[in-house]
Order: sequence, then C-alpha cells, then structure tokens
Amino acid sequence: MLDTNVEGVEQTVSTGRLPARGSVDAVVAEAYERNRGSSDGAVADYIPVLAEVDPELFGICVAEVDGAVHDAGDSTVEFSIQSISKAFVYALVCEEFGHAEVGERVGVNNTGLAFNSVVAIELNDGHPMNPMVNAGAIATTALMPGTTSAEKWEHIRTGLSAFAGRNLELDGVVYRSEAETNQRNQAIARLLQSYGRITEDPLEIVDIYTRQCALRVSAHDLAVMGATLADGGVNPVTRERVVSAEVCRDTLAVLATNGLYERSGEWLFEIGLPGKSGVAGGIVTIAPGKGAIGTFSPRLDRAGNSVRGQRATAYLSRTLGLNIFASSSAGNANNEEQP
Ligand code: GLN
Repeated sequence: MLDTNVEGVEQTVSTGRLPARGSVDAVVAEAYERNRGSSDGAVADYIPVLAEVDPELFGICVAEVDGAVHDAGDSTVEFSIQSISKAFVYALVCEEFGHAEVGERVGVNNTGLAFNSVVAIELNDGHPMNPMVNAGAIATTALMPGTTSAEKWEHIRTGLSAFAGRNLELDGVVYRSEAETNQRNQAIARLLQSYGRITEDPLEIVDIYTRQCALRVSAHDLAVMGATLADGGVNPVTRERVVSAEVCRDTLAVLATNGLYERSGEWLFEIGLPGKSGVAGGIVTIAPGKGAIGTFSPRLDRAGNSVRGQRATAYLSRTLGLNIFASSSAGNANNEEQP
C-alpha cells in the first residue's frame, strides 16, 4: 500500500447541502419521466431466474442525511441486491479489521476486467485486487466474523439490515437458481484457496456469498443504505450508528474506483460519485455528506450495469449538484468581464 504519512492526522470534513426539499422531489420525478420510456439494454440471464423479471420496472429514490426521502416509480419493488452487497459487506469487514489490514488482504485497485474474471486473479499472482469484483468479494465474505457459516451469514444479514433500517430477507428462489449455476464463482474461490488467500472451505464461502447476493432490497432501501455511508455511518432514518466514519470514507474510495467494474472510469467521468451496481438492476450512488440515490431498472449494458439507472443517476447528479469534481469559480478571474 502507498505510504502517505498521514496516520494520526485528524480528518477534516467539508461538504455542501442538497437543494431545498420541494426541488429535490421535482428533480426525482423528472429523472423518472425522462427515462421511463427507454428500453435499451438487456435483462441478465446468466442467473436463470433473473431473466423472468418484468423489464419495465423502474424505481428511483433519493435519501438525504437528515432523513428526508424522495421516491418515484417502482421504488418499493424488491429485487435481489446482488453485487451491491459487496459494498456493505466490505464496510462491515473494515469495521472489524481496519483500514490497513483489509487494504492489504483484499486490495483496492481496479482490475480493468469483468467482475467475474479469473484472468485478473492469475495476472496478479492470486491477489483478489479489490472487494467489488467477485474474487475480492469472496475473500471479503471469508473475513466476516463468525466461526461457523451460519454465524457469518447472520452477521451479514443483520449488518445489511442495519444499513437499510429494516429486516432484509433472503430470496430463496434467486439463491437456489444461482447456487445451481455458480460453478464459476466456485472456481474463483478454489483458485483463491490455491493461492492461500482463503483458508476457510471455499464452497461454504461461496454459499454465503450467494446468499448475500440474494438478499431482497428495493431502490428505497438502497437509497437509505447509501445515505448511511454518506452520513458518516449513521442511518439517517433509524439514527443507528452502523459503521464508523472512517469505514465510510474507505468504502466510498473503493466504490469510486471499482463500483461499476471495468466501466468505473466512465462512470466517474459522467457522474462523479462513488456507486455500486448489481446484475438484478440496482444501483446505489453516494454523495458524501449529502445523501444517496437508489435506482432499480433490470435492463443492463454489456458490463452488467442498469441502463436507465445510470441515466437517471447522471441526471440527478447533474441537477442536484452532486459531482464531487465539479466547482464554479470564486469569481476572481482577471481575464473575464465581471457581470
Ligand atoms: N451474484 C452475482 C455473481 O456473483 C453478482 C454479480 C453482479 O451483480 N455483478 O455473479
């Protein structure tokens, strides 16, 4: 890891606010209207049961750090969280083990390859690279506290439920469908075992990982979960502290570089915020100190990211002023006419 020599230096935080309530409601409604007619992309079918979803479903939710929530469309329809679970399980593991150890064991750098790449593991001498690709997520799940699989699973389920502020449940149909067809993830876990990267039973870890991916959430839940990461680890609706502010900061940095797989650079370029997508069609996007966006629309691009979700999020980021790289001049230019 990079030695930055800032350990022990106090973290100063500086963020802005979202626009007034009424205008956020209007912007969320407009993000929905602008994109509802699009049918670009295709529903995931490599997990057989996901292909049966209604592709027209479309929901958006923005949750603010003061607990205000703005919904549009099918924002309370539930779907499987899939890869978005990786972000929250990572946060829970960071809470247990801390910045340095997880950074070292799982890594934080982008692979530039697909989420389920085996080549990426081989190219990096068995290092999983980052927790948002399957290899890193499986390694992260293995680190979850608990001496038995049942204990690890319960820790994950209750942890993600605390982020959502309600009891999340397993979608048994999605879990079984993926468990019957996830030979590739089993191979990834075996490969990590062969490199000494996981010491637990690889098939049991993949089973827990498959369960965490099959937890049912809505776009509304994703917005609240994301807003917890935006609020220094406190759920703004239940007011429960779930993880520390340091863990939120670290998790969001990893999402910014890896959350949209090999498209993470394009995502940051267009949207300018940390986000995480899943193959069932969910995306969570976090504006640190302000709030979060949850979207659900099942049709995906080739990298496995929801098409309407990306477009709606881009619109919201732009109109709500969320892009973390955007600035306007303080007005001191001496080569421009003053108004
Ligand atoms: N459960 C899926 C898998 O491991 C999650 C992938 C995703 O959402 N991109 O293949």
